Amino acid sequence: MAEQNTFLYALSSNNAWAGYKAHQNPSFFTKLASGQTPQILWLGCSDSRCPETTILGLQPGDIFVHRNIANIISPTDINTSAVIEYAVAHLKVKHVVLCGHSSCGGAAAALSDSRVGGVLDTWLTPLKAVRYAHADELAAITDDKKRTVRIAELNVEAGVKVLMANFTIQDAIRDRGLEVHGTLFDIASGRIRDLGFGTRGSVGFDGSSDEVVRGNHAQLVFGGGNAKMAVR
Ligand SMILES: [Zn+2]
Repeated sequence: MAEQNTFLYALSSNNAWAGYKAHQNPSFFTKLASGQTPQILWLGCSDSRCPETTILGLQPGDIFVHRNIANIISPTDINTSAVIEYAVAHLKVKHVVLCGHSSCGGAAAALSDSRVGGVLDTWLTPLKAVRYAHADELAAITDDKKRTVRIAELNVEAGVKVLMANFTIQDAIRDRGLEVHGTLFDIASGRIRDLGFGTRGSVGFDGSSDEVVRGNHAQLVFGGGNAKMAVR
């Protein structure tokens, strides 16, 4: 494939795929064209090795998606915020999944003291802040790959905190039991690990409305292997 035109190859691959899907299930595309009712909002990294629908073994129509470099959830990013609002308030997805991954170039860049250049350093600033907030723990990890995985986990934890403080998400948790999950995709094994951040410990969301109070920032509370949301 390397020597031929990659775009033309991709188009012919699409043609073969569409033919195969239509043959396998004649109503697949007709049904798909009638509308979408995805149950999952996926927030992930733009990395080419993390295509959410493929790695979850799901199909077109199953997942509403926002991906950016290093899956950074910034409350002031109108792009992320618009996707969250549409998915949660309008499509009424049942799960919000924030997924980081191993070998993340953005995570490695945030751990480096050199500049990437252009707008990229600005974009990675929240991840740099995660690095500085956990400087001692990260510095104590001698293996570069493990350190990159650890900052990716901490980044997901920080992102889940931002999600839990989002009013659209808080309303949906309270009103209809929306679940928020923090996860990490291990590229070397293809497996996704639930990091336990979010609404769901083994007890799950208890539906009590005073768990969420407007005007305060929700925090994750850990205990007994479970995570739940509380307001401090
Ligand atoms: Zn990445």
